[in-house]
Formats: sequence, structure tokens, C-alpha cells
Amino acid sequence: LKIVKAEHWTEPLALFRPYRIAGRTITDIENHFVRLQADTGACGYGAASPGDEVTGETLPDCADALDAHLEACLLGKDLNGFLALIRDCRQALCSGPAALAAVEMAILDLVGKGFNLPVADLFGRRHHSLPTSVTIGIQDVSQSLHEAQEFISQGFRILKIKIGDVPEQDIELLHRLRETVGPNIGLRVDGNQGYAREDLLAFERKTRDLHLELIEQPLPVGQLEPMRTLPDALRSRCAGDETICTPEDALWCTHPPRPFGIYNIKLMKCGGIIPALKMAGIARMAGIELMWGCNDESRVSIAAALHAAMAASATRYLDLDGSFDLGRDLFQEGFCIQNGELQLTGRPGLGVLPVD
Ligand SMILES: [Mg+2]
Repeated sequence: LKIVKAEHWTEPLALFRPYRIAGRTITDIENHFVRLQADTGACGYGAASPGDEVTGETLPDCADALDAHLEACLLGKDLNGFLALIRDCRQALCSGPAALAAVEMAILDLVGKGFNLPVADLFGRRHHSLPTSVTIGIQDVSQSLHEAQEFISQGFRILKIKIGDVPEQDIELLHRLRETVGPNIGLRVDGNQGYAREDLLAFERKTRDLHLELIEQPLPVGQLEPMRTLPDALRSRCAGDETICTPEDALWCTHPPRPFGIYNIKLMKCGGIIPALKMAGIARMAGIELMWGCNDESRVSIAAALHAAMAASATRYLDLDGSFDLGRDLFQEGFCIQNGELQLTGRPGLGVLPVD
């Protein structure tokens, strides 16, 4: 199996539901796509959706890096040596985790197709079906309640609420939400670095009876030491997102007292499925649970994250809603969703099909 063609390009993907998180509003997005063709005619696909405010990588950075390295690293290469190929790509694309993730998933898509196996099975699948949360952005209370009911009517059972602007309003909103959705809907929150340590303590005290699943990245990235001084029980329910990008970050944060009991892994932060599974191994050994997150992404990279999540025993939470709000996508399939549960399809590789 030889790679005979390696292409990449940027594509606009409209968002039909613009949203706000602490600090900014997102109105529309682009992804950068990779397509590799083997001499059998089989194609492997990948996509990059860099989070520049977290990793410093922009979409033009992806394009430039792939212009410089994609063909040089892969053209004419034999996929029997796929792990070495991925290692070469990692060296060439070391400053661009999203570009690397796109290339790595395209290679693994082809390898899976070569073995006639889903990528999750290449890495030893541990899970078959898991519920995902869907995200409610920062907006006024009535809009949030309305959106919550809309998601629940679509079958979703877990809501992730973006907080982090005004703690008192966040607390009020969550009480109203719990009242509206009842006791059986999971509620988790994402502070996107918006709180100070004292805000977090007050938030925890005033939402204790709401049974929130977890609190994602409440404090700014630089505030690991303040995180470490929080009570044990609170830290164990906090998930590191912006703080936890790479396997090195994952290892560093296992040192006690641990700032987070949960790591939010994203392929676009760490550089793909293989580094993600390294992080998963570190977390498992340290007794840390995993959440799998995403940016606004095409179905192809959401599927890739789901394959990785299904292969990690420490996986406990999915937040893979990044393709649901796209106005258009280049791919279909890859996974299916029923009553808010994500499942792979059984197709080989990543299991996605180009939309014609
Ligand atoms: Mg987050």
C-alpha cells in the first residue's frame, strides 16, 4: 500500500448557530482538509480545526506547514511502515498539532481500510457506545432554557453549559436549568478560564445541591498552583482543558496535589490519535478520568476523536458535539447518534464517506 497522492485545502463550513464563550463570539469557521490516496485507489481523510487561542496555531499555519511537508513526508511512501511515517510527520509538523492530527488521522484511515478494521479496533476498543454532551453557549437565561429543552427533545441527556463571565449569573442560570430539566439530565459546566479561585469556591458552594458532573477549566492556564490548593473533592471534579494539551502536560499534572481529576483530550491540541492515547495511558495509570472534547470540526475529525475515545479504558465523558452545528460538511457517516449516544458504524478506517 503506497501513497500516490497527498492533497490539502481549506474549506469554509458555515455555522448555523453562532455562539458565545467567555471572551468572544464565534460566528463562522473553516477547517483544513487532508486527502491521501493509495495505489489501490483507497483514500484516507483528515481535517484540522486549530484552536489558535489555546495552541497558537492558525488555519494559515496549517496550510503553510502542509505545503512545506505533506508531500515530502508521504508521497511514494509505503503504509506498511505507518508508525514510522507518522513519527516523521510529527517531527516535520512539531509546531502544528492540528495539521499533524489531520495527517495522522488520514494515514490511520488508510491503514484501517487496509486491515478492513475500524481505527478503534486497531488500538483495542474498550467501549461501544457512550453519551455525548451538547453545548449551550453564554446567552441570556431564557435563551439557555429554550435551547436546553430543544436539545432534550432531540434526545440528548447531558448538557454542557458555558460559564465564566459573571459568577452570580452563572449560579442563577444553573439553578433555573436544574429546575427546568429535572434530576435526570446531566449538567456539566465549562468556565473557559473565566473564574478566579474565590469565584470557583463560591460557585461550588452555591451549586452543590445541583449535582453538576464536572467543572471544566475554571481558572486561567497559568494558575496551576491556586488549583492545587483547592479542596480534594473539588479538584477531583475539575477537568483540565486549556491547561492539558500534550502528553507532557498530562504527565506534569499527575504530580500531587493533582490540579484536575479529569483531562479533556482534544486531537487538535495534542496532534492526533497516537499522542491522545499516550495521554490516556498516563491518565489511566494516575487514576485520572478522561473527557474527549473538540473544536468546531468536520465529521471526519470528530469521528477520529471518537475512535480514540472508544479505545481508551479511562474514557468517561464525551463532549464531541463539534459537527452538529455545521451548516455544511464534506463528510457523512463516521458515527451515528441515537438518544444522545455516539456509536461507531463498523466501517473500516475512520468510517467517513465524502459527501458528493
Ligand atoms: Mg473547554
